[in-house]
Amino acid sequence: AEELKIAVGAMEISDKTVSDVMTKSDDVFMLPDTTVLNTKTVAEILRMGYTRIPVYSGDRNHVVSLLFVKDLALLDPDDNFTIQTVCGYHQHPLRFVMQDTPLRMMLEEFKKGDYHLAMVQRIVCAEDTDPTYELVGVVTLEDIVEEILQAEIVDE
Ligand code: ADP
Repeated sequence: AEELKIAVGAMEISDKTVSDVMTKSDDVFMLPDTTVLNTKTVAEILRMGYTRIPVYSGDRNHVVSLLFVKDLALLDPDDNFTIQTVCGYHQHPLRFVMQDTPLRMMLEEFKKGDYHLAMVQRIVCAEDTDPTYELVGVVTLEDIVEEILQAEIVDE
């Protein structure tokens, strides 16, 4: 029965999109690029338990880089580096996808292995202005795998 569940899950992702499985923007742990990486902020980042943290400049809609928690390993908290400085050093690629991207396409993209987290956007059309992009969430390989297995994966 487990095998059947997985097979059904794999078939079902064909009509789903990124927005069906993403973590919504309000629930995403992000930090401003001006954050000073001292003992307190590093402790908070570690406590949250995420591998990757979107970094924004100004407002949360304007994500400019990704901070990897492993980047903090060799950091001296007494140096008081900002996130901007650390991200500028590592320059991890930051990828954006539209919320209506089919899950199957997203899975193929993640399988290439270049990245396993993408920022999810939608286009906002207002009357007299040009369309703008709005951040609606993040999606990771884990979100898609979870959808296929149709069960919550408990991280060890
Ligand atoms: P992690 O290794 O950080 O746990 P995963 O890729 O295993 O990340 O994803 C686990 C879940 O956490 C997914 O639902 C994903 O959308 C979500 N997630 C990943 N990074 C963040 C973040 N910075 N803030 C909130 N949720 C996140």
